[in-house]
Amino acid sequence: MQDTILGKKKEFAYFTPGPSELYPTVADHLADGLVRGVFSISHRSEAFMALSEVTKEAVRAVLGIPADFRIFFAGSATEWMERSIENCVERESFHFVNGAFSKKFKDIAADLGRDAKAFEVPFGEGFTLDAFDIPRTAELIAITHNETSSGVMLPVSFIEEVRHRAPESIIAVDIVSSAPYVELDYAHVDIVFFSVQKGFGLPAGLGVAAVSPRALARAEERKNAGRSIGSFHSFLSLAEKDAKHQTPETPNVLGIHLLGEVCKDLLAKGMDEVRRETDEKAALLYKAVAESPFLKPAVADEAFRSRTVVPAEVEGGSAPLIARAKEQGFIIGSGYKERKASHIRIANFPAHSVEAVRELTHILTT
Ligand SMILES: *Cc1c(COP(=O)(O)O)cnc(C)c1O
Repeated sequence: MQDTILGKKKEFAYFTPGPSELYPTVADHLADGLVRGVFSISHRSEAFMALSEVTKEAVRAVLGIPADFRIFFAGSATEWMERSIENCVERESFHFVNGAFSKKFKDIAADLGRDAKAFEVPFGEGFTLDAFDIPRTAELIAITHNETSSGVMLPVSFIEEVRHRAPESIIAVDIVSSAPYVELDYAHVDIVFFSVQKGFGLPAGLGVAAVSPRALARAEERKNAGRSIGSFHSFLSLAEKDAKHQTPETPNVLGIHLLGEVCKDLLAKGMDEVRRETDEKAALLYKAVAESPFLKPAVADEAFRSRTVVPAEVEGGSAPLIARAKEQGFIIGSGYKERKASHIRIANFPAHSVEAVRELTHILTT
């Protein structure tokens, strides 16, 4: 993490689970975009088409997305929850719910008038494979890979198991706070989405989805059957424009430019190294939680402890620790909702350097 930005000393390092610290190269890419007039170009121009293609290919390389998946841009991850349901669900969806974001996906399906069924476990828990039964009638299964509200990360093998149990269903996976760390096997998923203000270290306002041929075909079938699949951001409208590397509306060119550049930086560093560093920093943070006289792990089962969002319970309440960290230049996250006053959450994204994490662990243990 850098201490200065555009020649000035930065006030704080953000370890919040999102929005979070910006990737260290963002300022340079922003300045470069300004100088080159990237934010003034027409979204129907050759220049935009080239930019869009570069960003999509960089995202594809970072996440290992196969060539037959389409990559679409929208406003946010929340938008992708709505679009997934609109495009692929006629009657029934099925949701694994263990916190605020997985619940939001389910609520969106219910708001759209679908029969949103769920397998729900208490906050802070993950799912075990033999404990659930997925209805055969579920057209789409929603999985939140990393439940940011609680710091529970599911093993990717869980997703594979779900696919084996429900081979006909569209599987939609929210990877907002585990990307770009997570390595999915795209043979087992259909819709994978994220927004950029967490693990990619970018300003908010861009949601990206990878959509399988099967999910596209499902949307097409529903459209041909006379159903509504939405308007400008239906999978079919997006696919039609995407064929020309365009978007149906004037998109977030700033976000698309920065995402492409940061993905290139991640690739230059090497995704193996990015993931290795994430594991190293997660180990440092969990060690600090274990050794701290006033912290306790918030996720009991080690198998479900997130590598990218580290939660902890603070004895006597989290406010004094959060204030003390701030005095030393570190903004850390509070617990989610009812745990706001008693827990902390610390993000561990590629923008967070090993060195900065080491410094932070001193604050967490003394
Ligand atoms: C932050 C978050 C979202 C929502 O992202 P937006 O960009 O606000 O739509 C969805 N899912 C998870 C897991 C998140 O952490």
